[in-house]
Amino acid sequence: MKRRKALGVKMQGLRTFKSTQTNWFSSVGREQNIKDYASLLSELVWKRQTSFLAAAVLAAFYFDVVSVFVTYLFVALTEFLDVHLGRKSKSWDGQDPIIGRQILKRIVFNTIISALAICAFIVNMALQQSSTGHFTPLFFLFSASVFAAMYNSQLLGILLLRLTIYGFAFLFIAVFDLVRYAPSLKSQIWMEFFTIIFVLYFIIDISMKFYLSHKERLEQMKLIKEESERAKAALEAKAQFLATVSHELRTPLTSIIGALELVNNDALAVLPEPLKPIINLANRNGQRLAALIDDLLSMQKIESEEIVFDFMPIDANDLLSETVDSTSGIASKLGIHVTLEPCAEACMIIGDRDRLVQVLSNLLSNALKFSPHGSTVKARVENLGTRVRISIQDEGLGIPAGAKDRVFGKFSQVDSSDVRRVGGTGLGLYISKQIAERHNAIIDYVSELGVGSTFYVEFDRGTDRDIARADKKRLDTAT
Ligand code: ADP
Repeated sequence: MKRRKALGVKMQGLRTFKSTQTNWFSSVGREQNIKDYASLLSELVWKRQTSFLAAAVLAAFYFDVVSVFVTYLFVALTEFLDVHLGRKSKSWDGQDPIIGRQILKRIVFNTIISALAICAFIVNMALQQSSTGHFTPLFFLFSASVFAAMYNSQLLGILLLRLTIYGFAFLFIAVFDLVRYAPSLKSQIWMEFFTIIFVLYFIIDISMKFYLSHKERLEQMKLIKEESERAKAALEAKAQFLATVSHELRTPLTSIIGALELVNNDALAVLPEPLKPIINLANRNGQRLAALIDDLLSMQKIESEEIVFDFMPIDANDLLSETVDSTSGIASKLGIHVTLEPCAEACMIIGDRDRLVQVLSNLLSNALKFSPHGSTVKARVENLGTRVRISIQDEGLGIPAGAKDRVFGKFSQVDSSDVRRVGGTGLGLYISKQIAERHNAIIDYVSELGVGSTFYVEFDRGTDRDIARADKKRLDTAT
């Protein structure tokens, strides 16, 4: 089956070769193949030139210098044509079929004269050898054929054209001796002839292998491209779905939570005592649901790069004290003491204030969540020279070694078992990491089980120039 398929491709190649140039263009010469072929021609110019020059120097040493030099010049001249063609194909956008056809015609022309030049160079050597055993010219011809098979497989017709010309040169060298010496079938000359037939078959075989593997590679690339387009479309659909669902859930949930709070605070009427725990629970679960939806919305916006960051110069001390203030209610409810240690001087960074408050609030609320009652959480700003570090240190559970991927992963938690004590979505640090990365900042932690953890975000310290630039940019966008 495979063999039949390969034979089919060979036949198709031959048919293509025999047909007109217009047909070549439509059947084999897909625009991209022509472009690839022509640009490879000029890319390989130095590789080819080096081998030709080496062959010419070798030949000049053992054969007639003048004829070697003349035939080598002929070969070098064809190289200029290839380089020129490569340049022309580079300026072609690969769309216009008329230019494509012109390039293809030039490729045919260049192939014929370049193959003839190489054959002239090699046959010239063979003709100068009076005895049999044309090892050097035959081996040069063999190398040229393998080179063509390796690098010309984008256009099968062109490859076959070149190999046919080389094939004639092979046969000419063999038959010339047969005619010259009219040897008996037992002689070395006949043996060389049969060996050449074998080598020709081998060259055709490897050419087909290279051609088929090139075709296979193109098909695989097409498949990968299709697959990646499908994945992209699925991702877009998922993001759209997530955004719509989250939004549709968030709006009614806000009014449900608002109503529950009013009822809970006896704002409408005095709530009967037995109902209080149930309304309280409903309110708490409503808040959790709202937090989850907010995280999902944030994640979706960050991943789809919908969020526009409003970069401005910020004093890290102010940023941290603002965050600590906003969580002081929860901290005192949990009986945890939060201390603030600002850095002595103003530690300026460039960032989006709201997003950075979101990051620090997440670090702080995690520290509170995982700390025991009565412990202390230290919020600190440090000046590290060219860097500014904001850290939150707790005396909580700690994180086991090797859990970094889970800590910063999407929807992942270190203790995801049913018995985990504290709730959460597993999205907070994932979102924080995305935000930090958009600030060119590092977010990381050090932790010891049972002793506590220190989470930190480290920024480039804003120089006067950075601050002036950020101010100017904001002013420009505002006007
Ligand atoms: P979650 O909503 O679950 O808190 P995060 O992404 O903020 O999600 O945190 C991911 C996980 O990292 C947490 O579930 C927890 O296991 C671990 N973690 C984060 N901060 C701390 C901390 N200060 N102490 C111990 N574990 C922490």
